[in-house]
Amino acid sequence: MSLEEIYKPESPPHGGDSIGFDPARQWAELNERIEACRLCPRLVSWREEVARVKKRAFRDWDYWGKPVPGFGDPDARLLVVGLAPGAHGSNRTGRMFTGDSSGDFLYAALYRVGMANQPMTTHCDDGLALKDVFITAICRCVPPDNKPTPQEIRNCQPFLEAEMKLLTRYQGIVALGSLAFQQVQSMFRGNGHTLERLEFKHNALFTPGGGLPWIITSYHPSRQNTQTGRLTSEMFDAVWQRAKRLLDGLGN
Ligand code: SF4
Repeated sequence: MSLEEIYKPESPPHGGDSIGFDPARQWAELNERIEACRLCPRLVSWREEVARVKKRAFRDWDYWGKPVPGFGDPDARLLVVGLAPGAHGSNRTGRMFTGDSSGDFLYAALYRVGMANQPMTTHCDDGLALKDVFITAICRCVPPDNKPTPQEIRNCQPFLEAEMKLLTRYQGIVALGSLAFQQVQSMFRGNGHTLERLEFKHNALFTPGGGLPWIITSYHPSRQNTQTGRLTSEMFDAVWQRAKRLLDGLGN
């Protein structure tokens, strides 16, 4: 599956003549393709198994059990790239980071920095709206043990590339976790950009230049990180405050 197969813009989204370009339709078509994807047999099998077996606390839920599309403001200046859906979070609810502790931690932080209209999320129709931020992931299907294979991440790459093309205003990326950071770098290198070797650490800022967006790295807000204190609310807030300063031209 190539980017050209999943995304055929009616006119160039980055500059050029916008007559006839219908972003809403482009987003709808992209999301339809994401939701229908069955390219990775191991992940298709796992996401459906999780949706069938369910967790006791959610046994009355009709799990989503499909790939999860990106979520947020299509005019966003900030793109957040995570890893993959949580088994009983977005694989259950169908919306990025919705329905588990990672999402609770993330959306509370976005609310504190003014990028979300509410701190809590529970399901797709809970009224959550994001401002100036769009959330996506390098892998759209829940992987066993939260570990997609390198091939599965490559399979999913065209969806992220298509979203990046449709997000015509984004200036910066927050990469949640080292795998997301590696994949963003790999995509940029694959597109012909030369990037020096960048080392992952929490709240580091990278400005690769060459027309590429800046990147801030953060520990992933997984339960494992937040419950052990590896990632605290204060550490996470510092990431979003830094991103906001950069977007607003107030330095880093
Ligand atoms: S991980 Fe991505 S490429 Fe693989 S089946 Fe899911 S949506 Fe398709």
